[in-house]
Amino acid sequence: MPVNENQNGGKEKLVQQEDLYDVVIVGGGPGGLTAGLYAMRAALKSVLIEKGLPGGQIAISDSVENYPGFESISGFELSDKFFQHAGSYDLEVLQEEVTSVDPGLEHHSVTLRTGRVIKTHAVVLATGGSPRELEIPGEKEYYGKGVSYCATCDGFFFRGKTVVVVGGGDTAVEEALYLSKIAEKVYLVHRRDALRASRILQQRAMNECKIEILWNTVALEVKADEHGVCAVTLENVQSGEQRDLPVDGVFIFVGFIPNNSLVPQGIKMNADGYVVTDEKCETSISGIFAVGDLREKYARQIVIAAADGCTAALAGAHYVEVRKGGETVCAMPVSPA
Ligand code: NAP
Repeated sequence: MPVNENQNGGKEKLVQQEDLYDVVIVGGGPGGLTAGLYAMRAALKSVLIEKGLPGGQIAISDSVENYPGFESISGFELSDKFFQHAGSYDLEVLQEEVTSVDPGLEHHSVTLRTGRVIKTHAVVLATGGSPRELEIPGEKEYYGKGVSYCATCDGFFFRGKTVVVVGGGDTAVEEALYLSKIAEKVYLVHRRDALRASRILQQRAMNECKIEILWNTVALEVKADEHGVCAVTLENVQSGEQRDLPVDGVFIFVGFIPNNSLVPQGIKMNADGYVVTDEKCETSISGIFAVGDLREKYARQIVIAAADGCTAALAGAHYVEVRKGGETVCAMPVSPA
């Protein structure tokens, strides 16, 4: 698959280069890559733009056990399979940063950090989400010095040490289980008396003797000495009791916030900042689609992001066909291949 690096490093005088695509996909996670695969099968002139490495959030997941067809696979391997599969259809991938998406009557525009403007009939926004911060003292200051949002990336540094994981959802419990293979002791701090995580993950955490769950507890502050993080201040929300728990690392998994900064004005979003779409994954602006964790939906799962990508590409192909005045662009079989 051709990956075009930024040629001028963003330093040269901005050159406005205009070219017309059928679909521009912004974001290279499971939703974006699946949209790319289906768009290529529909013979659409497509480009996927991703500022980092393709794969999105799953690329840093230790293990994925609920993507159908794979009983257990590392997040990196699964995302690589998505990438290779889209690449087998010669999907063009640009490793660039998108700075704006601007709706237009004739065409939509996608502007890159380099100044290049790509005109397109349809846009698929697949920018996913980012870890939510706790916003407590010490969190920002000691990020990278003991505070982390990625166990797979940073767990290695806590071999034989004591860590605290904050959160009660699937991510917190999965990452606590991962850390229990490395650290000596893992405290799982949750603000309520019941975990939000799926039953199977809950059972595994309860059965793991290295994990101790601190119920009805919130983290108030991360403390550090000259070596890095040394304690976290906890409060029991029922008794009001506060104490400093000595730990070497603090892993925070309290949910995600949608990466919606590129969502154009006029597109409907809900109160939490997720993009509202119809059943075709189309937003309130025609020809602009949203997929994956950016889109308002009941559950955020890899399989659903992939399904969204498929839906958006199929609907996008139809949209482009109509825009082009009935020209046949959809060469994709609608029944399973
Ligand atoms: P999540 O499901 O939204 O859970 C966030 C957790 O953080 C909740 O337990 C929440 O507590 C807690 N929390 C939120 N704000 C907090 C705060 N300020 N202080 C303390 N605790 C706070 O997020 P997630 O676990 O990252 O999962 C996101 C989505 O991805 C979910 O749909 C999840 O099912 C999915 N996911 C699936 C898998 C899998 O299937 N293997 C793996 C990872 C993620 P409350 O429970 O009290 O609200």
